[in-house]
Amino acid sequence: MQPDLQLDESLPISGLQHLAFCPRQWALIHLEQAWAENRLTAEGSLLHERADLPGQTRRHDLRTVRGMLLESRRLALSGRADIVEFNPLPFPVEYKRGKRKPNDCDLVQLCAQALCLEEMLQTDVPAGAIFYGEPRRRMDVTFSAQLRSRTEDLAQQMHHLYRNRITPAPIPGPHCRNCSLNHLCLPQATGNAAVENRWRTAQLRSLRTEE
Ligand code: SF4
Repeated sequence: MQPDLQLDESLPISGLQHLAFCPRQWALIHLEQAWAENRLTAEGSLLHERADLPGQTRRHDLRTVRGMLLESRRLALSGRADIVEFNPLPFPVEYKRGKRKPNDCDLVQLCAQALCLEEMLQTDVPAGAIFYGEPRRRMDVTFSAQLRSRTEDLAQQMHHLYRNRITPAPIPGPHCRNCSLNHLCLPQATGNAAVENRWRTAQLRSLRTEE
């Protein structure tokens, strides 16, 4: 991604997690403010409230900062880290309810926190961790070049959608089952038209190729 994004305002890091999960979900939450609390998000909020209480502790060489404010001017992102451990390099830790997900949305959110820390503190942040509630286990994450690139691409995409006020069409799939906005999005009802359009476009394209 080019460093100059011509970004006008800072967007929340948490939006990257929604965008990675589903672009339409991101738009419904961040553009249309249609946030619907379901059991998964409610439990997640409780877990975050506990981890978010600001403050810091020190134990031997390990300093732990809770609720640290984060910002990247380069990516125009801002947010708050559940926990950042310093020993001596910063090591962000994100708390999530439930199990590890079969997608990279949690990884992207954590990586964005690392990119903010690197820019703010002018230091390397090679790794972090995600603490999952089920089972209660911490998973270490290495911020590879691939994950960094994916995170920066999503940041750019998020700003593009935001700047142009774009709400993407739904793409129905298994992920819709756990989506808190399912009843507002109506993926089957509204998705069919989009799928049909894409099918029609593909058909027309193949006809033109055959001509
Ligand atoms: S219901 Fe499916 S398509 Fe609609 S916002 Fe949720 S995940 Fe996206």
